[in-house]
Amino acid sequence: MASSLLSPSFTSFLRTKDLSLSAFTSQRCFKAVPRKIIRCAIAAPQRQPSTTGSVRTAMTMTEKILARASEKAQLTPGDNVWVNVDILMTHDVCGPGSIGIFKREFGEDAKVWDREKLVIIPDHYIFTSDERANRNVDILRDFCHEQNIKYFYDIKDLSNFKVNPDYKGVCHVALAQEGHCRPGEVLLGTDSHTCTAGAFGQFATGIGNTDAGFVLGTGKLLLKVPPTLRFVMDGEMPDYLLSKDLILQIIGEITVAGATYKSMEFVGTTVESLTMEERMTLCNMVVEAGGKNGVVPADSTTFKYLEGKTSLPYEPVYSDDQARFLAEYRFDVSKLEPVVAKPHSPDNRALARECKDVKIDRVYIGSCTGGKTEDFMAAAKVFLASGKQVKVPTFLVPATQKVWMDLYSLPVPGSGGKTCSQIFEEVGCDTPASPSCGACLGGPKDTYARMNEPKVCVSTTNRNFPGRMGHKEGQIYLASPYTAAASALTGYVTDPREFL
Ligand code: SF4
Repeated sequence: MASSLLSPSFTSFLRTKDLSLSAFTSQRCFKAVPRKIIRCAIAAPQRQPSTTGSVRTAMTMTEKILARASEKAQLTPGDNVWVNVDILMTHDVCGPGSIGIFKREFGEDAKVWDREKLVIIPDHYIFTSDERANRNVDILRDFCHEQNIKYFYDIKDLSNFKVNPDYKGVCHVALAQEGHCRPGEVLLGTDSHTCTAGAFGQFATGIGNTDAGFVLGTGKLLLKVPPTLRFVMDGEMPDYLLSKDLILQIIGEITVAGATYKSMEFVGTTVESLTMEERMTLCNMVVEAGGKNGVVPADSTTFKYLEGKTSLPYEPVYSDDQARFLAEYRFDVSKLEPVVAKPHSPDNRALARECKDVKIDRVYIGSCTGGKTEDFMAAAKVFLASGKQVKVPTFLVPATQKVWMDLYSLPVPGSGGKTCSQIFEEVGCDTPASPSCGACLGGPKDTYARMNEPKVCVSTTNRNFPGRMGHKEGQIYLASPYTAAASALTGYVTDPREFL
């Protein structure tokens, strides 16, 4: 651990002392963790109690979900089990490859295992004239028509996304908005940030095209049960922090390899107080620590979000009081400060105020991590409080069509009825772009806001590796929407407390 090298503000992050990650070499190394039992606010009176049948030994949420999905009474980390998949998601980048493998292995005329459990979402390389990128969407369309796929969020007219009523945008946000994320289920996707859906108390993880091709034909996948790291976050969240700060804090602490093939379970009073979108941000970046999946226990916030989004029954599960965790980390969130991840790694953590001399060229607000409605609301709040104009080009890419509409229709609290779009225009931001992944991962050269030159960018996205947003010499500072907006106002990496 690098705790001794941390600045004093990081001491609010503690690891349960008598546990050691390096002690884990086999199942026998598991111990019952001596810990405070945290009971999450659960209000689901109509739902059946969680069960996996005849449970003999305490299990974590992730173990329970996989046990039920594999029709086993008991699982322990390291077990390999065939899991029944509830939802498989794919998109325009990996869909064509997965379809190709499916057809090669199961036959040209084969049918997918369940036309209602496959969700296909074009979102990555959409608003581009790149012919190969456009062709990928055509392949998805042909396949969905051939297979009569129920959930295909198509886009045909690239000149105006608004005339495509089925089109959504970034898959992980669209999955939630369209009711495909349900507690207790297994959701796999051909995208590493599929882990976002763990916010709903489900097992959600990214898989490769070969595995996806197999799932398309069988509805099953062989999975190894991961051990679980538990992150207990208590304390009142300061009003200058967002959950992006929490997850950057965690990744900075455990490093980009700290949760390799492990489940990350988030609990505590702070987590209970988070909205669903903030929980999604938390789970979205577990893969940046190498995590297999992230999970937040479903509660009344979850059930309320799902109202009207899905008519399918679901059954949440929760970690048993005596469940075995590989390690437990504790936060006093009230003592944390805004953080950023400096180039070129998500674990290159620093306090935002420590980077105040870093001059920037641009700000990017968007992606599955930081392009949700609440992310833009947060940015608008900072702009509103400042009464100033942005000093650098500030690009806004709503994750989905619904987010885009929210920017033009929802009033920003405390603004006297102004919408985000009005506030953004007043302070000099670029007009919100068409919803998609945009420049989060660079994309074709004509992608909106792509870094085609070696610029310095503060971004609400999730990765800052060389070349991630385009130019390989570009520098990306990952930050919360608060910090991104504050930085846009000064032209330097800026702690949002300067304005809030
Ligand atoms: S927004 Fe970025 S991180 Fe999210 S799915 Fe798209 S490319 Fe991946």
